[in-house]
Amino acid sequence: MRNQTKRINVGGVLIGGNTSVKIQSMTTTKTADVEKTAAQITALGDAGCEIVRVAIADENDALALNRLKEKVRLPIVADVHFSPKLAVLAMENGASKVRINPGNIGGEKEIKYVADCVKRHGVPVRVGANTGSIEKQFLQKYGRSEFALVESALYNVGLLEKFGVYDIAISVKASDVPLTVRAYTLLSQKTDYPLHLGVTEAGTYEAGLVKSAVGIGSLLVNGIGDTIRVSLTDDPVKEVYAARQILRACGLDEDFVEVVSCPTCGRCAWESMKLAEKVTEFVKPYRKKAKLAVMGCVVNGPGEAKDADLGIAGGVGSCVIFKKGEPVRKVKAEEAEEEFFKEIRLLLQ
Ligand code: SF4
Repeated sequence: MRNQTKRINVGGVLIGGNTSVKIQSMTTTKTADVEKTAAQITALGDAGCEIVRVAIADENDALALNRLKEKVRLPIVADVHFSPKLAVLAMENGASKVRINPGNIGGEKEIKYVADCVKRHGVPVRVGANTGSIEKQFLQKYGRSEFALVESALYNVGLLEKFGVYDIAISVKASDVPLTVRAYTLLSQKTDYPLHLGVTEAGTYEAGLVKSAVGIGSLLVNGIGDTIRVSLTDDPVKEVYAARQILRACGLDEDFVEVVSCPTCGRCAWESMKLAEKVTEFVKPYRKKAKLAVMGCVVNGPGEAKDADLGIAGGVGSCVIFKKGEPVRKVKAEEAEEEFFKEIRLLLQ
C-alpha cells in the first residue's frame, strides 16, 4: 500500500495521489546551451525519464527555458539556489516547477517573493532540503539529523502555505543512506505532500547505484515516495535506467521484460553469461510484461525457470528452448543465440 499523498501537476505529469511513481533526472549540460541541453533531455526521455530538472545558475540559464521548452516534450523543473530572483525569472520563462533549497533561498521575505510568482504562474514548488545546507537554527537545535532536515523542510513549507502556495513536493536528502531513510520516514508521518526521493551525492556509478537502490528502494517498499531521482556521478541516462530498475525491483513497474539468468556453476557447458547480457540489452526498450530465462544447464535450468514465458538452457553441443518450463525444441549450440532471438522477437511482437 502506497502512502496517500496530495496530487500535484508538473506540466501535465502528475505526482502523488495514487499515480505511478515518476522518474526524474537532471541534465549535466550548461542550461543556456539550448542545443546540447535539448539533446540530453531527449535522450533522457527516450530512456524513460518523465520529468527533467535543469540548473539555473544565472540569468542566461533562466532565459533559455523559453527556447528549451519549444524543443523538448518533458516538463522542465528549474533548480535554483541562493537567488529568489532567478526562481522568478525561471517561472516567467516557462519552468513547469521550481525547486528551492530552504537552506539558501533566504527568509520569509524571499519566500513570499517566490510564492507570489508561483501563484501567478500556477506551478508547483519542491522544497528540497539537503544535509549539506540545513538552516542554522535547525542545525543548532537538532544537529545533523533527520529532525533538522524535516523541521527545516516543513518550516519552509509552512511559509509557502502562509503565502497561499499549496502545490508542493518535498525532499529531505542526505548522502548517508540510513539518515535519508529515517528522514523520509519521519517526514511521511508529518505531511501528506508528495515526496521526492533521492540519496544525494550518492557517488560514482557502482556505489551510487547501490546507495540509491537501498535508500530509495527501502522507502518505496514501505509505501513512501511519489517521484524518484537516482543521483550518479555519470551519464544521467544511466540514472534513468537505474531508476527504472529500482521501480521494477520494488514491484512498481510491471510493463517490462524481465530477464532472469542463473549465476552458472560447474554444470554450465556453454556461454550463458554472454547471451544473458545480450538479451538483457536487447529487451531494454520494450514496454511489455514478459519473463525470459537464460540458464546454464538443462539439468536444472528449465525447472528453476519454469515461470519464464521463454527460456534457453545449455547442454554439451546443444541447447533446449523452453516455454513455462516445458522444452519446445532442441537447437545446436552454435545456432542457439540466433534461434533464441527469433523466439524472443515472436514473443515480443
Ligand atoms: S541452472 Fe544449472 S548451471 Fe545454472 S546454477 Fe543451476 S545447476 Fe548451475
